[in-house]
Amino acid sequence: MNAEAAKQALLVKQAEITSRVERTHKHIHHREEPVSADFSEQVTEMENEEIIHALDEEGRVELKQIQRALQRLEKGEYELCSTCGKDIGQQRLEAIPETELCIACASKV
Ligand SMILES: [Zn+2]
Repeated sequence: MNAEAAKQALLVKQAEITSRVERTHKHIHHREEPVSADFSEQVTEMENEEIIHALDEEGRVELKQIQRALQRLEKGEYELCSTCGKDIGQQRLEAIPETELCIACASKV
């Protein structure tokens, strides 16, 4: 994968997650705001709170992964597995641009 394309994919994903985390935060800190219609249709109020906290946590983890991937890109290590040092593979990086593990190492986690 071309480094510039990889960087673009990571930056787009980073922006998406950042805005999602910000929306989630607004909801956590301003509970008087009504939950969106389709959200409240799907889940009860209690479950909703749990989902929001889970989304928030998930977003933070993803953002950290993206930041690490961007650093790895700078260092020219982006395409190498951080555990075994082998090529992660283009297909896998296209599917999960923030991954730092090859499929063999990822399946062991
Ligand atoms: Zn590996």
